[in-house]
Amino acid sequence: MPTTIEPACSEAPIGATTRLTIDLDAIAANWRFLAETAAPALAGAAVKADAYGLGAARVAPALYAAGCRHFFVAHLGEALSLRPRLAPDAVVYVLHGVPPGTAGEFAAAGITPILNSLGDMAAWSAAGKAADRRLPAALHIDTGMCRTGLSDAEVATLIAEPERLDGIELRLVISHLSCADDPANPMTARQRQRFLDITARLPTTGQKFRRALANSAGVLWGADYHFDLVRPGIALYGGNPIPGRTAPLTPVVRLETDILQVREIDPPEAVGYGAVHKVTRHTRVATVAVGYADGYLRAAGNRGMALVAGQDIPILGRISMDLMTIDVTDVPPALSRPGMPITLIGDRLTIDRVAAAMDTVSYELLTRLGRRFARHYRGSAA
Ligand SMILES: *Cc1c(COP(=O)(O)O)cnc(C)c1O
Repeated sequence: MPTTIEPACSEAPIGATTRLTIDLDAIAANWRFLAETAAPALAGAAVKADAYGLGAARVAPALYAAGCRHFFVAHLGEALSLRPRLAPDAVVYVLHGVPPGTAGEFAAAGITPILNSLGDMAAWSAAGKAADRRLPAALHIDTGMCRTGLSDAEVATLIAEPERLDGIELRLVISHLSCADDPANPMTARQRQRFLDITARLPTTGQKFRRALANSAGVLWGADYHFDLVRPGIALYGGNPIPGRTAPLTPVVRLETDILQVREIDPPEAVGYGAVHKVTRHTRVATVAVGYADGYLRAAGNRGMALVAGQDIPILGRISMDLMTIDVTDVPPALSRPGMPITLIGDRLTIDRVAAAMDTVSYELLTRLGRRFARHYRGSAA
């Protein structure tokens, strides 16, 4: 019998009973909302980690069609696969800088590195000097996140030695907010002030550069945080950037699956691994083919919810690798028999609510959504 080998990222694995629907029009609408909020600043898009797991190859062109021209990824490899999918006027930035030996690859592919250290600057400057021109780049200044970007000491060195910018066309200076999701945290205003101070002191060698500070939450903090360009990510994908505040964002993701099997049990039976959920009544248990290997995190065991026929239905017992079990006792049997659809993400089950039941954030939920689902892209850009 011939065997069919599915490509690793097949959009519809054979036999998949779970559907992940990604609404490209919703992503475009969210981008337009953020762009209008940030105007006259420009709006870019964070499409790192495969557009937060939703498929950069589909998402980035949809954002381009909506008007986005500035795209941020983490790795050179991500940029190399994205670059040919976007017209030449799109700028693709790599957040993680220039790994040793890759400057030539960046320059040849027309990808803009975000220089995070004096070492990155030296590599890019050398590549520019070798090419006898200034090569476009962005510079990341650390204003308090203590992760990537030039430290205060490195900024001081750069100010003292402006020739470090030789061969570099400085197009953009960025920093990243560490606490913008928390309205009570004074860190956000402090970082903004540091960003203002440092960008005012940078040696520009006569070049005019743009400034960018805001992630999604930063966009919602208002004009003081917008500078020249904003870099939203999670809000594009329907995540609420500031918990407790509402933002007019359109949901992007739906995750639906079909009931695989239904079992009727009575006390003292218990469901799943560890027999941690002991039933206390006659219970109809529906099993569905989604588990932690699909990114439905194990922390949601005995806590998470599903929607069946519009009703909130609790997850019973532990999440398995490939399966989970839900309590459909209160759903009419005609609506909860094998083959009937249930919703794991969608409607009332927002990505923020599902992530909270997993003890995590929407970012982690989205980036872990597995590869075993049938993926459907909706919208005019699809
Ligand atoms: C991921 C990222 C963003 C986007 O952040 P969101 O919180 O998803 O809006 C912006 N800037 C940098 C540097 C990032 O790493």
